[in-house]
Amino acid sequence: MQLSVEQLLTDDKHWQQLCNRLQTVSSLSAIVLTARQMGLCLARAIIEQQLQERAAAFTKWNTCLTCSTGLVSKGLVKRKMLTLVGQVQWRRRVERCPHRCLGSQQAPFDTVLDIQAYQQGSTELMRLGCLLQYFCPLTLPLNYWCNSQELM
Ligand SMILES: [Zn+2]
Repeated sequence: MQLSVEQLLTDDKHWQQLCNRLQTVSSLSAIVLTARQMGLCLARAIIEQQLQERAAAFTKWNTCLTCSTGLVSKGLVKRKMLTLVGQVQWRRRVERCPHRCLGSQQAPFDTVLDIQAYQQGSTELMRLGCLLQYFCPLTLPLNYWCNSQELM
């Protein structure tokens, strides 16, 4: 049995809009750009599913660094991150000391993923930004800005 493209993410409105746009656009450029957006949308869905599965299966419990009491779960808390494929989000368990010791709140799955507590952008995105700095020197946008000012 072969699935159509529309059936890949049936409950995703953005995906369905992209499928509709893919069928209605006519130029090659528009088809390529729409297919690229669909690829990013599919990549986000795959990443979110992976993160959700791994977060649900992760059951390591820590102890409080202050009073050595076993930490208790605060439940699944939403986490989002800007990545190379766009914004992804998932839910992971957050735990804290039942005595509410200062600084006891932890998200152990964040440690597994090698991300910091309030990190908004993923590591590979930051690395790409740093690499672009070398390939796009400041003179390019500055020249563009100067030329655009002369045209006005
Ligand atoms: Zn404690």
